[in-house]
Amino acid sequence: MTVNDTLRTGLIGWPVEHSVSPAMHNAAFAALGIAGRYELLPTPLADLPQRVASLRRDGFRGVNVTVPHKQAIIAALEGVTDAARAIGAVNTLLDRGGRWIGDNTDGNGFLAALQDAGFAPADKHALVLGAGGAARAVAYTLSQACCAVTLVNRTPKRARQLAADLRLLAHAAIDALDTPDAVYEVDLTRYHLLVNCTSVGMWPHVDDSPWPDDLALPASWTVLDLVYTPLETRLLASARASGAHAMDGLGMLVHQGALAFELWTGQAPPIAVMRAAAEEALTKRRHPEQEG
Ligand code: NAP
Repeated sequence: MTVNDTLRTGLIGWPVEHSVSPAMHNAAFAALGIAGRYELLPTPLADLPQRVASLRRDGFRGVNVTVPHKQAIIAALEGVTDAARAIGAVNTLLDRGGRWIGDNTDGNGFLAALQDAGFAPADKHALVLGAGGAARAVAYTLSQACCAVTLVNRTPKRARQLAADLRLLAHAAIDALDTPDAVYEVDLTRYHLLVNCTSVGMWPHVDDSPWPDDLALPASWTVLDLVYTPLETRLLASARASGAHAMDGLGMLVHQGALAFELWTGQAPPIAVMRAAAEEALTKRRHPEQEG
């Protein structure tokens, strides 16, 4: 087989060496008998325009984008989907009739992980911790799915700004708590879902939790942590201890990759194969940094 008849895909980021995406996608290609290859494309910011310009010449048919380029890459593309525009970030490039279009599968990947947990978001109320890129994708997607959202962030101004942006975009029921400590004052039973979209609890700070130690998590909640290094975060251990339904961040990672795989190949992605490959790659790494 030559490079020319291989379905070439890859990941643009800086650094990208720690990514589990090659293991996940290459396992999916192998499982479906597709002559495909997923490669790491380490790219410093200064080289981003040249990288995008060279993708077609190098025969790439689909590409993922990760930190720190999810926003910066938009300027180098020939268009973006509505979801990518609303989220303000691109994690997947699609070759559409010779044009590189930026899409975002993070939000729908999150939604698929929620569905795996048996959680139907319509007419529910979610408490979302964080106001960065991941919180934006999660809050936008939840509001598109008719779920009310309350944002809580260490820097409350960012949460208020995000709520205002998304209300304009999605005409959605989104607000923000005035301070992180306001979680002590609100009636927690009005919420159904807690999503950690902060990096708190991520390796190596595995003893940290984004939720206060002295505030019990209601047993009725579904708790989804976007952090997946480690898979069992302190937040998820507390959720399990209080009887809540706990979901790790690997589900979203696998589903955002699976959705990109489907867009590139037109084939139903082998989700279980991709999850097993991602889990195996994670356990093999000596320094488990997390890609966003
Ligand atoms: P980001 O844009 O840098 O946002 C980081 C967020 O975490 C901000 O809200 C920040 O608050 C908060 N934060 C950071 N350190 C904190 C601390 N010590 N105490 C309280 N809050 C803190 O990052 P992101 O892209 O949104 O990613 C957030 C997390 O989601 C990362 O762990 C990333 O790996 C993960 N993620 C997972 C998936 C997946 O597929 N599972 C996908 C995307 C992202 P301030 O605004 O106050 O700085």
